[in-house]
Amino acid sequence: MTQLPKSVRIREVGPRDGFQNEPEVIATDDKVRLVDALMRTGVRRIEATSFVRADVIPQLADAEEVLTRIDRPPDVSVSVLIPNERGLQNALVCHGRFQEINVFLSASETHNRRNVNRSIRESLVGLERVLGHAREEGLRCEAVISVAFGCPYEGHVAPERVLDIAGQLVRAGAEEIGFGDTTGMANPVQVRAFFEQARAVLGADVELTAHFHNTRGQGLANVLAALETGVDSFESSFGELGGCPVPPGATGNIATEDLVSMLHEMGIATGIDLEALLDAARAARDVLGRPLGSHTLVAGPVDWHHGRRAQYGRRKDAGG
Ligand code: ZN
Repeated sequence: MTQLPKSVRIREVGPRDGFQNEPEVIATDDKVRLVDALMRTGVRRIEATSFVRADVIPQLADAEEVLTRIDRPPDVSVSVLIPNERGLQNALVCHGRFQEINVFLSASETHNRRNVNRSIRESLVGLERVLGHAREEGLRCEAVISVAFGCPYEGHVAPERVLDIAGQLVRAGAEEIGFGDTTGMANPVQVRAFFEQARAVLGADVELTAHFHNTRGQGLANVLAALETGVDSFESSFGELGGCPVPPGATGNIATEDLVSMLHEMGIATGIDLEALLDAARAARDVLGRPLGSHTLVAGPVDWHHGRRAQYGRRKDAGG
């Protein structure tokens, strides 16, 4: 049996990856309330919003107001998604209201071109400046590489290519590299091989973070594969919010509730209060007015003693 990490770090990305993919714009009051609730679940990292141009992502046009109004406990680190130098300049208006930035690019030329209208080389040149500037401002830097496990346009993406990009981002100042399975193409065997190679190539000092989507239901299996290689940092989204506009109808990130439930059942600590997290996901469900993909939100936490059994009994009485 592989030695698994005793505890993991989770970054909640629902307020950015999730809210930006909702067809409607969520009211700022609701965003602030949900972020405040999430920051009181014990989660230590949260991606609160993004400074992508408002005409590109109108859902997050209120980034400045959200950052100004949220009430961050001192042990929570807030990060914002930064697309380019202009985005960083806009974010720095709220200097002191966030501790980390997250920059991104894609591992395939076609996906990067479609997403940010630049070649990978052009993106890297721009992001090197963003990372340098952010470090001068005392901000911690994460860089996420999208479609790191496969691209909906180009198919296979060579791990060597992904890790070459990762190495350049590390040299530019990124302390953490997130590997995004943006359209849910990864499988556990691939994930295990990838992270073993990533650790060997990038060395021990870089934080490696896994960002899985549940597009084909393999998100948690991929988490286990990553854990088995020693990965102890994950990104997920409460309520399984989020997704990617391509392919159409793709489901979101793995649900934070499902991730926390699985880890706790496996004896791996997260610091997160699952009941409080479920309350936050319920509040998001009420705001969005639709059922969410999270399994634990529907089934409730595992209860080894009693409570739930009584509930199943009642369901049976009701004809289930
Ligand atoms: Zn994502």
